[in-house]
Amino acid sequence: MTKRDYYEILGVTRNASEEEIKKTYRRLAMKHHPDRNANDKESEEKFKQIKEAYEVLSDSRRRAAYDQFGHAGVEGAGGFGGGAGGMNFTDIFGDIFGDIFGGGRGGGPQRGSDLYYTLEISLEDAVFGKTAEITIPTLATCGECHGSGARPGTSPVTCSDCNGYGQIRMQQGFFSVQQTCPTCYGKGRVIQSPCSHCHGRGRNKQNKKLSVKIPQGVDTGDRIRLSGEGEAGESGAMSGDLYIQIQVQPHSLFERDGKNLYCEVPISFVTGALGGELEVPALHGRVKLKIPAETQTGRVFRIRGMGVPSVRGGDPGDLMCRVQIETPVNLTAKQKELLTQFDKTMPVNNKHSPKSSSWFNKVKKFFEDMKL
Ligand SMILES: [Zn+2]
Ligand SMILES: [Zn+2]
Repeated sequence: MTKRDYYEILGVTRNASEEEIKKTYRRLAMKHHPDRNANDKESEEKFKQIKEAYEVLSDSRRRAAYDQFGHAGVEGAGGFGGGAGGMNFTDIFGDIFGDIFGGGRGGGPQRGSDLYYTLEISLEDAVFGKTAEITIPTLATCGECHGSGARPGTSPVTCSDCNGYGQIRMQQGFFSVQQTCPTCYGKGRVIQSPCSHCHGRGRNKQNKKLSVKIPQGVDTGDRIRLSGEGEAGESGAMSGDLYIQIQVQPHSLFERDGKNLYCEVPISFVTGALGGELEVPALHGRVKLKIPAETQTGRVFRIRGMGVPSVRGGDPGDLMCRVQIETPVNLTAKQKELLTQFDKTMPVNNKHSPKSSSWFNKVKKFFEDMKL
């Protein structure tokens, strides 16, 4: 059998635009759709031809091959008249007629639902990454019937009421209304002897154990998608996906802001005045922090690279140490005496107190302005 020219099938010229081809296809496909021409062999054949022609001509790469080499250029697209890899009318119905008929298709087994799982991890695990073992309650493919829902040794059969389309037509006055087949609930297949383990559902409740690799640098709100690890589909249909939502627990020492970590470091007023060196904690271990003389409270020291590694590559964040000068408590009589002596050495002009001198100047100006 010689194949007809694709352009001729659609009735368009060889330089028809993509838009024109799409429009023509919609019109012809509507006219010859098997749902509108039940048991009309000629229409069904025409519909197949139209679909094949459209599949080639709507794909710029395949259209170019067809223009240059004819049918030989697009071999493997599925020939006319059967053997076309099980053409599924419901599929076409979904993508091109969905908007016209309101997308109410019930055909085919449903893909499994996506699952969402919140995983709480410590800041350390978020920074360094880890492999977490999790157990999720889910609907998994039945091990007994491998998802078919049919008793082992048997298989589901094509629904005789809808001939496997999952949809039936009902005549209502002048209109033919499309409905989900009540016999197979749109699945197109019926199970005559159901599997006893899943009662024909093809899946059952199981606690699934999974190892999840948490990359270093993740933060609260990040999601890890595990493709196909969601609920199993109905009757062996595709599984949904599993989304692991990361929740990082608060830490006793560090606060996180993106890639940077913040921590408060208390120091004595003597260290603040004279300077010194101390050890501060970092998630990677101890780090030495040099405090210069005359350090005031609130000053922030940045330790580069000691923050959180970047989850998408790039430089790690920094550790920000905010110094807080502590007033000494529980002083002995001797210590109080030394401080009193020390205070007597401090002149009244605040030359040793940078904040006070500017503060007193502001207070003075305030009273002058208010004429107090
Ligand atoms: Zn089963
Ligand atoms: Zn049916």
